[in-house]
Amino acid sequence: MYQTKEGGRNAYQFYTGDMNERASERLTLEHDLRRALERGEMLLHYQPQIELASGRIVGLEALLRWRHPRLGLVPPERFIAIAEDSGLIVPIGEGVLHEACRQSLAWQAAGLPAITIAVNLSAVQFRRAGLEDSLRDILTATGLPPHLLELELTESVVMDQADATVAILNRLHDLGVRLSIDDFGTGYSSLAYLKRFPIEKLKVDQSFIHDVAHDADDAAIVRGIIGLAHSLGLGVIAEGVETREQLDFLREIGCEQAQGNYFSPPLPPAEIEPMLRKGGYCEEVQ
Ligand code: C2E
Ligand code: MG
Ligand code: MG
Repeated sequence: MYQTKEGGRNAYQFYTGDMNERASERLTLEHDLRRALERGEMLLHYQPQIELASGRIVGLEALLRWRHPRLGLVPPERFIAIAEDSGLIVPIGEGVLHEACRQSLAWQAAGLPAITIAVNLSAVQFRRAGLEDSLRDILTATGLPPHLLELELTESVVMDQADATVAILNRLHDLGVRLSIDDFGTGYSSLAYLKRFPIEKLKVDQSFIHDVAHDADDAAIVRGIIGLAHSLGLGVIAEGVETREQLDFLREIGCEQAQGNYFSPPLPPAEIEPMLRKGGYCEEVQ
């Protein structure tokens, strides 16, 4: 039933054996997820965001990982939806925000450059009353200046009930945090709303970056998004940059920031620190 509902309502499907397997994997993960927090199995990796003109690391995106005792490192695709359905995303998300703010401040205290830390927010967190209060508490408790925290919301989250979104985004903006739209280009954006959102940056979805240097359609889309962002006074960052060719092309068409495995994959804090210590410049860009 759940699977049919997920694929759009008003339909039916025949039962197959592997549905059972998936359902039971889901139940097991949900069960394990409940304990993961208490057992400290959640951790953050960080991926640098690079300013292309200078090669400087200007931000880090915090990406959640689950060190499962039996399954090893579980990527977010496998458990975020389960965490959302079960409500566990709320304590997990608060933990992520707290840890990212704490880590960022710890790096600054160690003399490393103060750079933006970007945290992904799920639809459930975003729509829940009390987000602002919990965010305010976390900023106060950790002492991170709000302008160093950036919240990433996907295009589909912000465009759903866009009127209500404007009000929530304005309240978050009043707290002083930055806002960006993740996976831009994959949802249905209302340009009228985009103009009204107090956001700073569009993150071009990685699906357009993959072939950007060879596929005329992808190149046109990415150029279009960059043009749109600039005419609305917003910044742009390309996600999922993997090659020099993509980087050169993006630079040529005026994209100002990029993030991806070409520069660095998401890494544990201990491996990010030396990069920041070296002055925060990324050699690949030179
Ligand atoms: P996202 O926010 O769009 O994050 C970018 C994803 O692309 C990350 O996957 C990252 O590891 C991956 N990536 C980075 N560079 C490259 C590259 O060059 N090539 C390719 N192929 N992939 C690259 P990851 O870490 O598996 O996260 C997947 C998604 O899970 C994220 O997409 C985000 O939507 C969600 N997520 C991650 N952490 C959190 C979190 O703390 N809270 C919530 N609510 N969602 C999270
Ligand atoms: Mg993101
Ligand atoms: Mg993305």
